[in-house]
Amino acid sequence: MVFDYPALPREFKRQYLPREIGFGWDDLSGVFEELAKRPVGSVAELERWLLDEAELDAYIYEQRAVRYFNSTRQTDNPEYTKAYEEYTEFLEPRIKLAGFELLKKYTASPFRAQLAGPTYGLEDRRRQGAVSIFREENVDLEKEDSGLSQKYFRTTGAMTVTFRGQERTLQQMSKFFEEPDRAVREEAWRLSTQRALADSEPLDSIYTRMVALRDRIARNAGFDNYRDYIFVKKDRFDYTPEDCYEFHRGVEDAMVPLSREIDRARAKEMGVDVLRPWDLAVDPAGRPALRPFDEIGGLVSRAGRVLSRVDGELSSYFERMVELQLLDLDSRKGKAPGGYQEELSEARLPFIFMNATGKDVDVRTLLHESGHSFHTFLLRKAGVPFFNGGVNMPSEFAEVASMSMEMITGEHYEGNFYNKDDAKRSNWKEFVDNVKLFTWVATIDAFQHWVYTHPVHTRDERARAWVSTFNRFCGLESYEGLESSRAYRWQRQLHVFEVPFYYVEYAIALTGAIGIWSRYREDPKDAIEAYKGALSLGCARPLPELFEAAGVEWGFGTQVLRRIAEELRSAIREYAE
Ligand SMILES: [Zn+2]
Repeated sequence: MVFDYPALPREFKRQYLPREIGFGWDDLSGVFEELAKRPVGSVAELERWLLDEAELDAYIYEQRAVRYFNSTRQTDNPEYTKAYEEYTEFLEPRIKLAGFELLKKYTASPFRAQLAGPTYGLEDRRRQGAVSIFREENVDLEKEDSGLSQKYFRTTGAMTVTFRGQERTLQQMSKFFEEPDRAVREEAWRLSTQRALADSEPLDSIYTRMVALRDRIARNAGFDNYRDYIFVKKDRFDYTPEDCYEFHRGVEDAMVPLSREIDRARAKEMGVDVLRPWDLAVDPAGRPALRPFDEIGGLVSRAGRVLSRVDGELSSYFERMVELQLLDLDSRKGKAPGGYQEELSEARLPFIFMNATGKDVDVRTLLHESGHSFHTFLLRKAGVPFFNGGVNMPSEFAEVASMSMEMITGEHYEGNFYNKDDAKRSNWKEFVDNVKLFTWVATIDAFQHWVYTHPVHTRDERARAWVSTFNRFCGLESYEGLESSRAYRWQRQLHVFEVPFYYVEYAIALTGAIGIWSRYREDPKDAIEAYKGALSLGCARPLPELFEAAGVEWGFGTQVLRRIAEELRSAIREYAE
């Protein structure tokens, strides 16, 4: 695939920025200055000012995205790496500071109270929050924090083992956990875990430093702890830490028993008395891995067929991405691991990055990321650009768009990717994974609540807090003799390091996504209309209203989780037959 950025269609014309503008600080600072100095003497002038600022935001976001995209497509191209590093090291801190001046100008404007409509109300609340927590002295601390993230990635990225005569990364090793031969799985698991454990101390030190830094950032901004700070920073207006605790209790009540039922059935089917950590990813019936496609062309054409069964409009968006070469799907040497969808916010087009190798999970990933890209397309209908996706879209709803598409499309795998039995097998795994996701999100979230509300703690205390949290939500696998690997399992979850507290969003979104999928099974047309309607609202409504527009219940406490657990239980039973 070639990513021909200059050739992309520009359907949304700039009103404010010059047609030709560079991306150095010399180019940007003048624009920031003009906005900062421009007199704003009426509501109409304030609206114009906001639109112009939004154009600048979209330009910056798109340029950042292109640099990020290039640096992950070709990690071995030093020019791409340098361009992205220049952005994060040099430009971003300056943009943050200059952007703060604009925030202050906005919040000081007497006309902001006269901006009419719920969309402005939400944006106003967001900006008010951002201004209230911004501290200039935190910019350097945040830079140090992201430097530590880079160190985390360097440390974990350098972890390799030699297995069957070949040097492999830990990510590459995970495929051996799906091997039917139990001894092979155990050997691969032990080898990977020992390698990770060898660096547990440096990773522990990085994290200790991060927690101290983050605690200081929060205190500088006038908060008692980083947890309370991050709730404001992440615009979590629609739920509280107490709601998260209620979510943990709900998972314990409704999902943990289901997760353990699944494990009991797994142990029985595998014919083992006790499950071990290396028994959890393999097909319990010992069948070889599913092979939904052989080459990328097959993945794309089959995904296109599946989407055309779901909805004509959505499938036309996918075809558009294919035509504009906005999909980089194959796994190549030099390409960064993982998968994501990003938005080119001026062109208002999405692109998808992933590493497909012919596995079942690749199909889910592509259709998940396609759900995100539908958001970008549907948002084109929304008039006001600063409510546009990427920058401000709350993940609690963005992931509803993607996760529901992942499940809905599963209804059409039969005849496209799989025969009847294999389609069932793929869906069974999807829904089992959803149960496990709820329990894992609760684990990671509850652990972080503990860490940041107890910022002063020893390594041993942290390990103990982790183990008791882990045991509260875990399945039936036994860690006997593997206690130290369990004690440091959190170090493998990059979010804990890179994006603190960003995780519960997935579970909140999953509740909505399951709701949409279950509506789709009853009335596909109606469910898809509601899906499209809710996505085209962007982030112009509070989360409960976005959920309502999508036709699903807002909430992630015990009652909701109990109902969802029942739905998951019956889906898993149906697919297991
Ligand atoms: Zn996603």
